[in-house]
Amino acid sequence: MDRDPSRGASGLPVPLSVCEGCGRRLEGATCVTEQRAAPRSGDISFCAYCGQVRIFGPDLRLRRPTAEESARLEANPQVRRARAAVLLIRGARN
Ligand SMILES: [Zn+2]
Repeated sequence: MDRDPSRGASGLPVPLSVCEGCGRRLEGATCVTEQRAAPRSGDISFCAYCGQVRIFGPDLRLRRPTAEESARLEANPQVRRARAAVLLIRGARN
């Protein structure tokens, strides 16, 4: 099985979540804007395998965004660029 790519050199462990998009086990997080930043409740996460957008819950497990959150995220160009970057990096590793 592939190693979780979010557990790279700067990745931090988080409670296990399973991506609803690709079924992969996600148990690490790497911040793309700050080195060594730990995820907090409400932060956005992108699955490192398929780019699906999720939100860190209070226990740092990933949850599906609400319809309102999804609309806000899809309208945010920074979110769209970050997701595209995650998918490009993932594609470059394959
Ligand atoms: Zn996924």
